[in-house]
Amino acid sequence: MAILALDQGTTSSRALIFDNDGNIVCQRSKSITQYYPSLGFVEHDPLEILDTELLCAAECVKEYGEKIDAVGITNQRETVIAWDKDTGTPIYNAIVWQCRRSAGICEELISGGHEDYIHKTTGLGVDAYFSGTKMKWILDNVPKAQELANEGRLLFGTVDCWLIWNLTKNHYTDVTNASRTMLFDIQKLKWDKKICDILKLPMSSLPQVKDNCFDFGEIRKGERIPDCLVGLRICASVGDQQGAMFGQQCTNIGDVKNTYGTGCFTLMNIGEKIRLANKLVTTIAWRIKGKTVYAAEGSVFNAGSSIQWLRDELKMINTAKECDIYAERVPDSGGVVFVSAFTGLGAPYWDMYARGALLGATRGTKREHICRAVLEGIAFQVADLVNTIKTEFDCDISRLMVDGGACVSDIMMQFQADILRCAVDRPRCVESTALGAAYLAGLQAGIWTPDEISKKRVSEKVFEASMLERKAEELYKRWKRAVGAVSYFSNCELNK
Ligand code: ADP
Repeated sequence: MAILALDQGTTSSRALIFDNDGNIVCQRSKSITQYYPSLGFVEHDPLEILDTELLCAAECVKEYGEKIDAVGITNQRETVIAWDKDTGTPIYNAIVWQCRRSAGICEELISGGHEDYIHKTTGLGVDAYFSGTKMKWILDNVPKAQELANEGRLLFGTVDCWLIWNLTKNHYTDVTNASRTMLFDIQKLKWDKKICDILKLPMSSLPQVKDNCFDFGEIRKGERIPDCLVGLRICASVGDQQGAMFGQQCTNIGDVKNTYGTGCFTLMNIGEKIRLANKLVTTIAWRIKGKTVYAAEGSVFNAGSSIQWLRDELKMINTAKECDIYAERVPDSGGVVFVSAFTGLGAPYWDMYARGALLGATRGTKREHICRAVLEGIAFQVADLVNTIKTEFDCDISRLMVDGGACVSDIMMQFQADILRCAVDRPRCVESTALGAAYLAGLQAGIWTPDEISKKRVSEKVFEASMLERKAEELYKRWKRAVGAVSYFSNCELNK
């Protein structure tokens, strides 16, 4: 028994094969190019997304050499691709979730008085982060888009949809990805005509929305499709954060996870009823066998990406791991606080114009302090998210399930436990996103029951608070001041 998970992330395309026990038997990863065409803009090449993902999948399938029973897809969410239905050719680069280019469109929506309706219908706040205004930007700025729309040939999709379309020619997405577009009614589970009309988006360009466990189709022969993948069945699709939440088996109300990837995403299971929050978004966690579960979510737009920034732009480290190594050489950040607001601040601040800052540097500040401040800055932002959930939902959180590429950092996990004063629980398999997609595909293919899946999670390490509570409180207060300074700075005409 084996399940292939395709995990198309922001920085890399990955493929993993899981066995019957949920163990990884082989995996491949290829990084994808990040394009920054102008300030605050982020793009990917849709064909690079597709080809790297297919290459990883084909290499895994060949190495494994045995039968694959089902395929599950999980993906970076909100990122938008537009293509020609007849030729399959993308008409523009993928506009990545981090991209801020549609901030002006969001401002118009807000000044037009649409914020309240959008929040109540979609569970989301109006922000350039979500897909809808990115689609609108393409329609307004890419001449080919309107031309194709007039001929009924324009297709929009998030990355799941782009992959599924290329693999099966079905224009499908799933409820979790749809719930991130700012166009989807999360109660009625359909595209909202009013919002599409406000944005002048043709609804015929949007995909059909399916449950997470669904027969999305069989992989068909095609020019770009490796032969070894043809005939495999796609049994599940899920946005990466919801995938991680399912992979961590946060299936009870109140279960919380945070994924430390390019960004950080904290999600709490809020059950089968929608509950709206002011500073967090409400989103679909999954829909299985006709039953919808919702989640409250907060996100940090730049987390692991700040470690990459140290490596690629500042050239202060050679590898992400070195950030940990340097950070461990000093007892604290030496008063340095780093706010990684490269593309604005997400929950609970929602400041589209904020930009990053390094505060508190002295003549004695060393690379070690900066590395530490970067890791601490990530943990502080996650603490902001968890604290917001606690306040908005009036609940206590005693355990945070963690995963994602950057959760391997012991120093950051310990600091997280210290600041949050709760247990930080790292599972043996930190590839929760792919694991979640595999579990969902396994459910659909009849390989596992929900009960069997719930028994598979094993903790590798649980971090408990060890810093004095008073010290933790002081550090958190200083962090809040740093964020205040960043917001003050961004609130200046020149920065808009
Ligand atoms: P995504 O799915 O968003 O592409 P991943 O979950 O693969 O992201 O995580 C990648 C991130 O993890 C990178 O931003 C990288 O900086 C960070 N990372 C990788 N290894 C380490 C490490 N040893 N310590 C801290 N961070 C790390």
